[in-house]
Amino acid sequence: MENYHALVTKQKNFFYTGKTKDVNYRINALKELRAGIMKNEGMFIDALKADLNKSEFEAYSTEIGVVLEEIRFALKHIKSWIRPQRVTTPLKLFGSSGYIYPEPYGVALIIAPWNYPFQLVIAPLIGAIAAGNCAILKPSELTPRTSEALGKLINELYPEEYIVVVQGGVEASQALLKEEYDTIFFTGGISVGKIVMEAAAKHLTPVTLELGGKSPCIVHEDANIKLAAKRIAWGKFLNAGQTCVAPDYVYLHSNIRDEFLKELKEAIRELYGENPMNNQNYTHIVSEKHFNRLAAFLDEGEILIGGASDREHLVIEPTVMTKITWKNAIMKEEIFGPILPILEYVNIYDVINGIQNHPNPLALYLFTESPTLEKEILKNVSFGGGCINDTVYHLVSPYLPFGGIGNSGIGSYHGKGSFDAFSHKKSILKQTTRFDIPLRYPNVKNGLKMI
Ligand code: NAD
Repeated sequence: MENYHALVTKQKNFFYTGKTKDVNYRINALKELRAGIMKNEGMFIDALKADLNKSEFEAYSTEIGVVLEEIRFALKHIKSWIRPQRVTTPLKLFGSSGYIYPEPYGVALIIAPWNYPFQLVIAPLIGAIAAGNCAILKPSELTPRTSEALGKLINELYPEEYIVVVQGGVEASQALLKEEYDTIFFTGGISVGKIVMEAAAKHLTPVTLELGGKSPCIVHEDANIKLAAKRIAWGKFLNAGQTCVAPDYVYLHSNIRDEFLKELKEAIRELYGENPMNNQNYTHIVSEKHFNRLAAFLDEGEILIGGASDREHLVIEPTVMTKITWKNAIMKEEIFGPILPILEYVNIYDVINGIQNHPNPLALYLFTESPTLEKEILKNVSFGGGCINDTVYHLVSPYLPFGGIGNSGIGSYHGKGSFDAFSHKKSILKQTTRFDIPLRYPNVKNGLKMI
């Protein structure tokens, strides 16, 4: 097992020089990142195609474009983010003033998964740079071409004492986790998230955990059915369902069952054509292990739409399943693939109970025209974030911090949230020396004492 102690020490020493705290240094680093990504766009599009058969459109709209927008937003706001924020002080602290100074943690470890292998390395890195940290990046071993391209980009842009990519799988990740960092940002599965948190606990290192889970999608009887079907099909089958916030399953009101399923079938046909298995722009499953795990789900319930698969090319058709209950294997874990189970309901409180009886989802989507139902769900169900009448799009707004709760994660990022995820807030009370209020001192008679 490799030893990363020297690398971490090198970064710590570089951090102590104070260079990364200079706002111009951070701005230059972000501008270099933007220029480097734009120059190497073709390299990343090719790598994403080779690793996951991602189309150029998806590579740009869900990976490259997303991080370019995050960089633009950070560059626009960084000067206001880093400014100490003045806060009010209570009357009993008369004469003093309060400030919150955001300061970088120091050396950050960023571990990423394979499903958006470019975005999920670079988006946290933008926060780390903007907040003034050094960073060690560990991309996924399951998308080797993208990870290699990331290594090349970062190596060309920055010295390793500032930002570096460490390649490798579980072993490299575990060797990295033996070291002491100032913060750890992890995106991945729940079980590995626990391993990361355990390693962090040894040094009381703060963590951000962006995990997964089963994100429900509720389609109520008063929903705009056609639009709901279209937006659910898009959010579910994007990246072949390998999206942390993809609708995992649909809770469908029985009164609109047939109409919704008809529209869903039509929406899938519009998105992927008559034969999605031959669609050159349809993302593949990342590995044979994941393919086998997903294929096993097809043995239960009833396949209503799709169901075809091709082991040689690791493709699974957009598939919709009915006659599924919480007892089926597909409802026991995050699906993370292009299979959408439908659960029917009549009473919305059965839906609320069903979700409440399972770990907190990362996302929840509700399709309804009823503000009362909207309030009822938001009040009673705990989840990371989500949309009313859409799927996945809450991720796109830099003004909405993105993260989970409970099993779906700790902390959040995107926009200013990314800066905050990599900053400690240092609270300072600046006291006056012009007078001293003696009330706090024992055995002192009251009254203002001029100094
Ligand atoms: P994973 O947890 O298996 O792997 C993530 C990273 O951890 C990889 O870099 C991997 O090398 C490393 N790793 C794996 N096993 C490890 C171990 N035992 N010890 C230390 N490190 C280890 O996740 P994945 O399969 O790459 O990604 C899928 C999961 O990620 C899904 O659960 C999905 O929901 C979640 N995810 C969450 C978000 C989010 O933003 N919340 C985004 C994307 C994916």
